[in-house]
Order: sequence, then C-alpha cells, then structure tokens
Amino acid sequence: MSSFPGLIDEIPGISVDRFNGDNFYSAVFFLSHCHTDHMQGLDLQFFQRIHNKHQYLYCTPISKAILINIHKLNDNLVDTIRTIDGCSPIVINYNEGSKILYLTVTCIPAGHCPGSIGFLFENEQNRILYTGDFRIDIDDLSKIKPLHCNVHDKIIPKKFDTIYLDTTFFNSNFRYLPSRQEALREICKIVDSWISQNEKNIVVLECSGNYGPEHLFIELSKALGIRIHVKDKVFKSYTIIPELASCISNNPLESKIHACMDKNFRNGLKCRPDIQSQFILTIVPSAWRWKDKDLSKCISEWDKNLRRFYVCYSCHSSHNELEAFIKYFCPDKIYPCVCPNYINFEEFKSQLNQVLNASTVSACSNYDLDLSRYKSPIEDDSNISNFSDDD
Ligand SMILES: [Zn+2]
Ligand SMILES: [Zn+2]
Repeated sequence: MSSFPGLIDEIPGISVDRFNGDNFYSAVFFLSHCHTDHMQGLDLQFFQRIHNKHQYLYCTPISKAILINIHKLNDNLVDTIRTIDGCSPIVINYNEGSKILYLTVTCIPAGHCPGSIGFLFENEQNRILYTGDFRIDIDDLSKIKPLHCNVHDKIIPKKFDTIYLDTTFFNSNFRYLPSRQEALREICKIVDSWISQNEKNIVVLECSGNYGPEHLFIELSKALGIRIHVKDKVFKSYTIIPELASCISNNPLESKIHACMDKNFRNGLKCRPDIQSQFILTIVPSAWRWKDKDLSKCISEWDKNLRRFYVCYSCHSSHNELEAFIKYFCPDKIYPCVCPNYINFEEFKSQLNQVLNASTVSACSNYDLDLSRYKSPIEDDSNISNFSDDD
C-alpha cells in the first residue's frame, strides 16, 4: 500500500500518484497506474480544478481510458489527461512561482498491471527514477534503454540522484517470491483438473481490491480458453484494455472461472446461486500469506476441508529482486514509497540506504560514477514531444 505523499523533493511543482493535501498546489500531475492507493484525491473536483487552471495529468492510454470510465469525464475534462507511452521522452514546461521550469519525462515499463509505468524525471539539476509499483525481471533491466546511457561506447546504467522505490516487499520475510509464470502454471494445473472432474465444477478466484491481478486473468484465460466472470464495477474499464477485453465476461452463465466476488465471501457464489458449494473450488493468489514461509520448495498449499487452494502470486518485486535492482543502479539515495507498519519511516529509509551503501562498495566500483552522471536530460533521442501549459 503506497505511503508516498506525492511530492518529489528534488523537482518542485510536480505530484506523482497522490493528488490531495499539499499536492493541491502542484502544477503538473503524473499517475503511474490505476490502483486506488495511487489515486488518492483523483476525483471529479480534481479534474475540474486542473481544467480551470490549464494544468494536466500524464498517464498511459490505458490508465486514461480507465479514468474516463470511472469518473465519466466530459470532453473538457478528458482533455486534461495527456498520454505518454513507449520509451520516447517528452519535455514539459510549467510555471513554478515566477519561474518557468523544464522537465524531461520518460515512461519506464513497470510490469505491475495493464497500463502501469514508472517515470524517469530529468532536469538540469537532477535525475530521478520513480518506479511506481513494479515487478521487472532483473535480467530484463539491461533491455530498458532509457535507464542506460552510452559512455565512451559502453552502455552503462544511468546514475540517479534518488530512486523512489516500490518497497512493498523490502522485508526479509519476502526474500524470494516465485515468478508470476511459475504461479500461473500452478494455478492452471489446479483449475484444469477441477473443472474437468465434473461438469458442474467451477472455480472462484479470490482477489483483494477491485483492480489487481489482471495479468493473471489474461494468462489464465489464454491458457485454458475460458473467459473470466469479473465484477460489474470493473467490467467496463477492462473492456477498454485490448489484451484484457477478450479474456473477461459479464455473463455469469458463460464462465467456469469467477473473479466476481469480494474477498472472504462465504455463502456461495452470488452470481450463480444455483451452484452448490461442493462444486466450488476457491483459489487465493496472494503474497502476504506466505510471509516467513520457505517458498524454494513449494509455492502453493491446500486447505482441503474448505476446498481452498493458496498460491504465492506477486505483482511487486521480492526483497532479493529489490536488492539486485539497487545494486544494479547504485543511486545516491533511495526513498521508500511503501513503509511497513512495524517500523517508522526514517528507520526504514535508513535500513534501505544501508543496503545501498553496501552495494556502492561492492557493485558500483566497476564503472566510473562521474562519467555516468550526465545531467543533460536527453542525449540521443530525436523523437521528442514538447508540452507546455499554453498548448
Ligand atoms: Zn499497484
Ligand atoms: Zn461470477
């Protein structure tokens, strides 16, 4: 659950993933993805206010489509949302007090949910990476071009002043988490076996929140050729996402897999009251219940009495993956965007920066830190869009 307050210390005048409180006074807004903990304050009044002030919110086309659907935005308010996508940087200029500031922004893939991105912010003084919620295979990092620069014909990771990091699982209880592919294989096997045992059998996917494991829906539906019955309140938003639209249904009779129920449902399936409970298998994809468990041998478990099957499934990076990420980039500072409730923020931040210091000694010595610290925001990209408040 994001605890990031929205303001980036190094870059005045912008707000990311938080739109209430002090963010009221920002001039430019960014949304990494449409999970509710990242959309605090993002209501109709917000869009009306930025429309009146000729300000803009930047997000991906998928997030824009979801926002339009959630808030039923009229054409004027739709125009307050500008889309960014791919890896081409855009330059935004905006007023901050009496000054005009320039900011280069590049999307970074986040692999968290459809339409999710991180942001690379660069200006004359600072280079900041805001990861948003993310899970990227560490072997794929080197393929993300905007996170690297070319120094003397050598491609090296960019040096960041601060990384604002998704620290959801920066916790030694979650050192290792299985990949989503591993979890998916486990779920497919169980679903396939259950629905082929008896033609009355159906599966309920018990997911927390309204939005979450959309990748799971896509992959499960593709693997088994079954559309998934989803909650009415998300159906319309999902139909806007091309890769998801063909994998979901709003017809309860059409599907043997249901993700239409709120968490901890108990009294049968609301959309199909005719189905008796002995025909229902519940699958719970989640990471939190696996705290402290040894996941190196087994990533799932049964509660056969209740016909519940638990699988470790995570859309956030594990502790080991975060450590590898920190070692790869060796930023000057790390700002944790998710602070666990057992520790105070400053203590947690200091723990993270200790990991960073240890990494700096061991891993960062293999390239010249000064050479990699380019402040000029754009080195070689000619495909740049410019946005200003006056557009
Ligand atoms: Zn999220
Ligand atoms: Zn259903």
